[in-house]
Amino acid sequence: MLESVIDIRGLDNAERSKVQARAEAPQRWTVDEIVALFELPFADLMHQAQTVHRENFDPNGVQVSTLLSIKTGGCSEDCGYCPQAARYHTDVEKQDLMQLEEVLAAARAAKENGASRFCMGAAWRSPKQRDLEPVLKMIQEVKAMGLETCATLGMLKDGQAEQLKDAGLDYYNHNLDTAPEYYGDVITTRTYQDRLDTLDRVRNVDINVCCGGIIGMGESRPQRAGLLAQLANMERPPESVPINLLTQVEGTPMYGTDELDPFEFVRTIAAARITMPQSFVRLSAGRQSMHEGIQALCFLAGANSIFYGEKLLTTGNPEAEADKALFGKLGIHPL
Ligand code: SF4
Repeated sequence: MLESVIDIRGLDNAERSKVQARAEAPQRWTVDEIVALFELPFADLMHQAQTVHRENFDPNGVQVSTLLSIKTGGCSEDCGYCPQAARYHTDVEKQDLMQLEEVLAAARAAKENGASRFCMGAAWRSPKQRDLEPVLKMIQEVKAMGLETCATLGMLKDGQAEQLKDAGLDYYNHNLDTAPEYYGDVITTRTYQDRLDTLDRVRNVDINVCCGGIIGMGESRPQRAGLLAQLANMERPPESVPINLLTQVEGTPMYGTDELDPFEFVRTIAAARITMPQSFVRLSAGRQSMHEGIQALCFLAGANSIFYGEKLLTTGNPEAEADKALFGKLGIHPL
């Protein structure tokens, strides 16, 4: 505690509060310290992550979000993992912005399936004002259904975060993807700083931040740790941290990357939990391809949020049913 090294008796109230705030500030992590977590024996790492998890969360509760792609494909960016980039030849069919009624029907189905948050994703570099306006309406209406709202629309310009806040947006997703030193191997059409600037705009209007990255893109372990250090050392770490496992899609530059060892993925989840004790750590893309045993280890390591993908919206869907069955086997309840 800072009080033990700083004598606060002679300080006025304002100075005391500053010292107190510093003492309570989140712990800062170096990349080396995070690499050291990765290198712990597996049982020790899991014990540490589970201990932190229990100190901060209901250990058996998992938050469920549903993701709907409201505008698909045709994106001008060059993210090397993404089948929605116009420049790569993949099976993704381009789809213009969905109509309000279709989005609301999907949100209703998500709610019936137990989702508490509805995330709307659009494949844009950055929304134009004419794109944003219909999305603002979607946010208002989804919010009015009693769901939390989340959007991922690309980079935001000045004034756009304010409009999203006014519409009732609860979370904005914008990922850092990877460590700064590996970033140029993944994307060239926007910089790391561009991403941080959008995150600042979101923070400045007090929208919750959802920000994480993708693991298994050929990055090294120190680079995985480097991504976590970026997130954990933000002035306020993201409220929600999606950790995606690369889904390799034929036609994208990342197709054919060496597969990541599943235990390394679990270690990444555990290190995220330890370094961001109060954030929801989300198992996102790639989860459906993971064996149930690995998903269970991820929950044990501190993951406490999942996505039901857009194709999982209707009742009776086999994948949504499989998730419910896994929750039942593990005694997990949705938050
Ligand atoms: S900005 Fe988003 S939609 Fe566009 S290529 Fe990158 S990840 Fe895909």
